[in-house]
Amino acid sequence: MEKYWNIFTNSFSDYWNYLSQEMLHPNWGNYFYWLLGLSLFFWLLEMLLPWRKDQDRIRQDFWLDGFYMFFNFFLFSLVGFNAISNIGVEAFNDFLQLFGVQNLVAFEVQQWPVWAQLLTLFVLRDFIQWNVHRLLHRFEFLWRFHKVHHSVQQMGFAAHLRFHWGETVVYRTLEYIPLAMIGFGIQDFFLVHIFATAIGHFNHSNLHLPLGPFRFLFNNPQMHIWHHAKDMPHRYGANYGISLSLWDYLFGTAYVPEDGRDIELGFKEVETYPKSFLDQQFYPFKKGANKHEQRLESKLAKETISID
Ligand SMILES: [Zn+2]
Ligand SMILES: [Zn+2]
Repeated sequence: MEKYWNIFTNSFSDYWNYLSQEMLHPNWGNYFYWLLGLSLFFWLLEMLLPWRKDQDRIRQDFWLDGFYMFFNFFLFSLVGFNAISNIGVEAFNDFLQLFGVQNLVAFEVQQWPVWAQLLTLFVLRDFIQWNVHRLLHRFEFLWRFHKVHHSVQQMGFAAHLRFHWGETVVYRTLEYIPLAMIGFGIQDFFLVHIFATAIGHFNHSNLHLPLGPFRFLFNNPQMHIWHHAKDMPHRYGANYGISLSLWDYLFGTAYVPEDGRDIELGFKEVETYPKSFLDQQFYPFKKGANKHEQRLESKLAKETISID
């Protein structure tokens, strides 16, 4: 037990040291300044080449989303996730050892060139996340957490990181086993994270930069806006792609019927959804939320024509 307690407390201090180091020492391998730089870059582009020209530069919920960005990228790890997940991993490894399993590695890719390992990680992780995202829409309990992300009513780059911390837990947990089965020889997935963050900012931005045929490969604002449409074509949504749009085209969940520049965003009765950060954090755990959900679910089920 003491071992777990030590991991718990060390995780906090390690993460605090890491975060303060990041903030005090700008360099090319620094997440904090990359996030800041990418955000400023897309904000500037939105001002120069806006898709919705009448949208304010500081749009509705801009600062709320800015806070979410910082919270989800840094603070949540600092206040808990890092500690909980380190314990989870340790307990999981202890559990495996009961059965004589030393580690989960089933595919060894250490000998591959670094670029091939990074590419494999990027594509595989994105595919897992596409599946997790579908689950978030499919199951009512998970949808209650995912609603935070869909409560965006005016779209811009910063909406990318508006999501409930419960989502981080779901994504990381479901990613862990498949990724642990691959013996990557690289420790630093920095490039993959930064690339995925850049595409995520782009998907949510108020920009119109046509990708040509690459739109069938990469997610983009003209596609992702339909994922946020108030009136979903399907009860469980469409365009689940995170970085790649490829999966939606391959598995028939792509939906871009027309120019979605001015469509209404959110979900039914989004107007009554809590507006503040704290209320949004507590929302999924409220009993009333469940009843409200069920009422809406049955209403939606009656109204929506299935395109399955
Ligand atoms: Zn979604
Ligand atoms: Zn989104």
